[in-house]
Amino acid sequence: MTKIKELISTQITIVGGGLAGLACSIRLARAGLKVILIEKNTYPFHKVCGEYISNEALNYIQSLGINPFDFGAVSLEKFWLSSPSGNKLELDLPLGGFGISRYTLDYELSKIAKKEGVQLWEGVFVKDIVNNDKLNKKKDYKFVIETSKNTIQSQIVIGSYGKRSNLDNKLKRDFSTKNSPYIGVKYHLRTNLMPNNVIALHNFWRGYCGISRIEDDKFCLCYLSHKNNIIDFKKIENIEKQLFTENPFLNQIIKKADFLYEKPEIINQISFLPKKLIENDILMCGDSAGMITPLCGNGMAMALHSSKILSDLLINYFNTKIDFTILKNEYQKYWSTEFRLRLKAGRTVQHFFGGRKSSEFLINTFKHIPSLARKIVSLTHGKSF
Ligand SMILES: Cc1cc2nc3c(=O)[nH]c(=O)nc-3n(C[C@H](O)[C@H](O)[C@H](O)COP(=O)(O)OP(=O)(O)OC[C@H]3O[C@@H](n4cnc5c(N)ncnc54)[C@H](O)[C@@H]3O)c2cc1C
Repeated sequence: MTKIKELISTQITIVGGGLAGLACSIRLARAGLKVILIEKNTYPFHKVCGEYISNEALNYIQSLGINPFDFGAVSLEKFWLSSPSGNKLELDLPLGGFGISRYTLDYELSKIAKKEGVQLWEGVFVKDIVNNDKLNKKKDYKFVIETSKNTIQSQIVIGSYGKRSNLDNKLKRDFSTKNSPYIGVKYHLRTNLMPNNVIALHNFWRGYCGISRIEDDKFCLCYLSHKNNIIDFKKIENIEKQLFTENPFLNQIIKKADFLYEKPEIINQISFLPKKLIENDILMCGDSAGMITPLCGNGMAMALHSSKILSDLLINYFNTKIDFTILKNEYQKYWSTEFRLRLKAGRTVQHFFGGRKSSEFLINTFKHIPSLARKIVSLTHGKSF
């Protein structure tokens, strides 16, 4: 006989416990709201990410309850950009940032979430979210969330499930039907070939690779490659052997660094296409609302910033200061003002990356007009929030 799962009721269900979901959960729980946060993995766990966080997010992370520098974060103040031939540009980063692994950062935030009273369901997978749009009163349990553990009925749902998930197909989101040509790969390593305060972006054919310091004397090496490299070279190792060696900086790293994982973390089908912010009344936050190209090194700051905007609005909504229509309109308005231009700038710059000639052209142009380089960096970054 099939066991009937218990039906759980809550005010807010957050699907996906990355930075966006964790930060929303902490703020909403602190405001006295009943929050369930569902994450399919169990903390701590590794994630494909360059692990460079722009300083614009530092105050906010501290306000959530952790100081990344207490956990070994390292300040990053300089930026190197190289073409496959080894032509290198060096810049000071106007705002700068810091390096810390997602393994540590997400884990520490998950501990704070639990302490604040968030019901954190780890190792639980969300299969489907159904919206009964006939239920329109604030106290109505409008959403039914089907998970691998229990079924939840919830007044509000936040979708913070990242770049791409099974739920995008269920919700028939436009971008989910389109093939996305990028794969992401990440390692942790030890090396003495890199200064501690630099974030480097090294181009290779049809891809680019970021390297920067994180805690415990480690570096994070993370790259984005066009899937045609996999088609041509069959395996990740072959891309690294054949294409990294062309760029003298990557060549040194790949041959001399001490790689700490047996296998890299890998994700595919990364999409930078525009997404809808609100889907079937589910409020998207972080990468599930829109993803900036990783070369801008700013996705985490954006995920955190969007969590701040959304949680503030939801607190007003539950305090009956605004209704749901106003909440949705305000969220769209703030989100567009903060992020639309940055996403567009990121997509535009990405065209110059991963090409032998185009990255050479970009670096030479930046060397001749350093003010242009600084302008582009500032277009893809925001202010402290
Ligand atoms: C190659 C690469 C390099 C990058 N480098 C940087 C960088 O250096 N700096 C930077 O700021 N940004 C970088 N980014 C972007 C950054 O990783 C993201 O913007 C950030 O992780 C977004 O956070 P999030 O909370 O929205 O999503 P995520 O951190 O992806 O979290 C989503 C969570 O939802 C969970 N989930 C998904 N589906 C379900 C489900 N059905 N049920 C339950 N749980 C589910 C996932 O397990 C995941 O933990 C990079 C991205 C890539 C691809």
